[in-house]
Amino acid sequence: MTSITKPKSTRDFDQQRDLPDAVRVANAMEGFLVEFGPHASSYMNACVRCGLCAEACHFYLTTGEAKYTPIHKLKPFEDAYHRTQSPFSWLAGMVGMAPRLSITELQEWEELIYDSCTLCGRCTLACPMGIDISELVKEARHGMYRAGLLPDRLAQITSNAETKHSPFGEPQEFIDTIHDIEKKYSISLPLDRPEADLLMTLAPGDLEDHQDSIVGVARILDHLKLDWTFSSIAFEATNFGYLSGDLELQGELTCRLIDKAREIGATTILLPECGHAWGAARWEAARWYGGPIDDIRIMHTIELLAENIQSGKIRVRPVGESATFHDPCQQIRRGGLGDAPRVALKALGMELHELEHHRETSFCCGGGGGVLANTRAAPLRQKAFELKRKEVEATGADHFVTSCGQCRLQFDRETEASGWDRQVESLLELVVENMIIEQE
Ligand code: SF4
Ligand code: SF4
Repeated sequence: MTSITKPKSTRDFDQQRDLPDAVRVANAMEGFLVEFGPHASSYMNACVRCGLCAEACHFYLTTGEAKYTPIHKLKPFEDAYHRTQSPFSWLAGMVGMAPRLSITELQEWEELIYDSCTLCGRCTLACPMGIDISELVKEARHGMYRAGLLPDRLAQITSNAETKHSPFGEPQEFIDTIHDIEKKYSISLPLDRPEADLLMTLAPGDLEDHQDSIVGVARILDHLKLDWTFSSIAFEATNFGYLSGDLELQGELTCRLIDKAREIGATTILLPECGHAWGAARWEAARWYGGPIDDIRIMHTIELLAENIQSGKIRVRPVGESATFHDPCQQIRRGGLGDAPRVALKALGMELHELEHHRETSFCCGGGGGVLANTRAAPLRQKAFELKRKEVEATGADHFVTSCGQCRLQFDRETEASGWDRQVESLLELVVENMIIEQE
């Protein structure tokens, strides 16, 4: 099966910003309208204003500011709905009562949609009406993007993903970095093999900050004797189209992975320790192919660890000591992988001291949904981190572990900024460090 929707990104984001205000508003409305399918319409009608979602959101809880309540973040989306799609929109339009959005209002909401929502889904869990607020915020970003409304740093990274192939850089920069890692760690990393069973992917943060994770995955794949490769044109798993609202880029990045896997005959695409990579590839790839991707397994690294630990193919030395685990939102609450990291921690013999809010109710690290890449959101991120820090300290655990590179980057930054004396650890790296390798 080949992709039936393979969009090509041709937009110039800066040009969109320079358009007349009325055109930008119209473009935003057009973007919102794309999303008003049956599910969004029923959500828009279902809210009973109970306010329960507010107490679920780390940004509202840590600031107390009403504008950060989840349902408030959907205001422009809601206005667009009532203006164009609600059962009485025709009547409201006739009598001039339909809400009219201005570019100023959209600019004010840009901060709410991008800075104060990590798409973590905790509010979705709390809503008694089953409204998926997180999903709606993501869909609202599609309209914002079309109006040229995006935080500067996120716009820059998205542009790199579009023009340079990856936020990390051009394919040649990736190839050079892979060779540097091979030399530094005395390891061989298969690259651009014409055929392989498994296509390994990465996050830019791995190449810059977490090279031990790249080497760790390679050691595990080799230990399992899997037939695998990196691809210099399909290595990028984080999807900045998904995060920015650039739907065309999202499709392009997703299709690049799936189509490359098919080209080399791979039956598995392995995703790195990353949360949104899992959401974009595992749950949204079907959007671009008109149905489920049933010839390729899209697998997360923590699934690989758990399954092979359970089958006995990966054996680890017990570390002992105690650990607490931060559940990355996209992997656990929105991704259903809550058991996998606990299988690995148990195998490591670590006594698990759960955070007060864990598994599906875990609080976000504060940097998901592109918020980590958004420079101006730093004060909000710091506040969200303090919530997590208190919970970690209350456990008294020896180790603070997680399975998402973006969460680690967020914790590392805030740890440094606040002078906290803890260091977050990678679950993958813990497994690799303690993996028993028998000499043949
Ligand atoms: S998805 Fe998370 S960050 Fe966004 S509004 Fe809901 S609880 Fe807050
Ligand atoms: S919890 Fe659900 S129903 Fe209640 S205010 Fe929030 S979105 Fe509306």
